[in-house]
Amino acid sequence: MLQGCDYREARDAMLEQVGPVGTETAALSASAGRVLAQEVIAQADIPPFDRSPYDGYAFRAQDVENASEQTPVTLRIVDYIAAGDVPHTCIRAGEAAHLMTGAPVPEGADAVLPFERTRFTEEEVTIDAPVKSGSNVIYAGEDVRKGTVLCSPGIRIDAGLAGTLAGQGIFQPLVYKKPLVGVISTGSEILEENEPPAPGHIYNSNRYSLQAACELAGCRSVYIGTAGDDRDVIAGLIGKAVQTCHAVILSGGVSVGDFDCTPEAMVQSGVRLLAHGLSLKPGMAGAYGIYDADHESGHCRGEEKGSGVIPVFGLSGNPAACMTAFYAVVLPVLRRQMGYAAGACLPPQIRVRLAKDYSRKNQSTRLLRGKVDLKAAVQEMEITGGQGNQVLSSVAGSNAFAEIPAGETVQAQEPVNAFLMGDF
Ligand code: AMP
Ligand code: MG
Repeated sequence: MLQGCDYREARDAMLEQVGPVGTETAALSASAGRVLAQEVIAQADIPPFDRSPYDGYAFRAQDVENASEQTPVTLRIVDYIAAGDVPHTCIRAGEAAHLMTGAPVPEGADAVLPFERTRFTEEEVTIDAPVKSGSNVIYAGEDVRKGTVLCSPGIRIDAGLAGTLAGQGIFQPLVYKKPLVGVISTGSEILEENEPPAPGHIYNSNRYSLQAACELAGCRSVYIGTAGDDRDVIAGLIGKAVQTCHAVILSGGVSVGDFDCTPEAMVQSGVRLLAHGLSLKPGMAGAYGIYDADHESGHCRGEEKGSGVIPVFGLSGNPAACMTAFYAVVLPVLRRQMGYAAGACLPPQIRVRLAKDYSRKNQSTRLLRGKVDLKAAVQEMEITGGQGNQVLSSVAGSNAFAEIPAGETVQAQEPVNAFLMGDF
């Protein structure tokens, strides 16, 4: 088991164990933001036929090669092709087809002119300048060639991909199932939403932060319950969560106080701990392990490698530490379970300049939460407030973590590594 390790080691140890939780088909109309689980190979050219980008006339470029204002060329209109029509005849010397935007260019024609650049009657069109062969023709396969690999599994369905799938006639794409994340709060001082304020007690905020973060990341979440500081009760809730959930997140009781029994409860419920304690501020306290549902139940519950492995995260109760560990360690593991390709599980690294000096030296890596202005040419990061592990107000409105290596300080405007919290 890793102890006091770099957060990336704990993250990678967990990542190694898990896999996507399964696949299902979904209606394309309800698939925005889902992770695609199939390869898509273009079954047909897009566009499927040579087509016109304008309302105008299609003809043979050769017929107008000597056209000028003094010697205009008049062609006889032999066809009318609306979008959705097929040409009724092919175009021969001296002929033109009147056609609409999106209509197929008829055989024989190799150029199109928009009607504004012609003079025309119902029967004839007159052209007074040469036109190159191929002008204003959108050729079949210009956008996508048949046989091209359009996308591989493990990418999110964004607006462009949704349209691309539709273009290939895929209206029931195979997507990865959304992992269901069970959230457990521990701590005798925690009040639930239906309880009145009481001396020495605080409302449960971690539950809501964690569920919001999971849902925004594209997972489903369920609140399993609160457990006080009783090891057996915590172990019971973990046992309940692993019956239905693909991942479990606990908060509280992971330090070394008299009442901190979450890691023991994890072990008691069958979790194998991979890391205990991190070299990370905030987020030093934490226990990370896996529960092997396949192994425990003696049968295979998932189709893919790692799909029966349930990661169990015991995070600090301090709200900001809890969320720092969520983004640094938990989210990449959940993204793996969501089906994201290996390279897309980790947050993108960026370089930022801090708006103010950070002059405190830490013994561990310090993740400073703040707000990066992504519109600026050089990313500037504003620290959103106090960096104490209990300061939740500075997590709100932040979108990135700047990473201050152990033993270092950073001056304002000095470039420093950072990573984004979401939307990657
Ligand atoms: P612990 O990790 O149990 O040592 O708790 C550290 C701090 O976080 C204590 O001040 C707790 O009261 C607080 N805390 C624990 N759980 C929660 C929670 N669910 N919501 C808000 N604060 C919490
Ligand atoms: Mg506690």
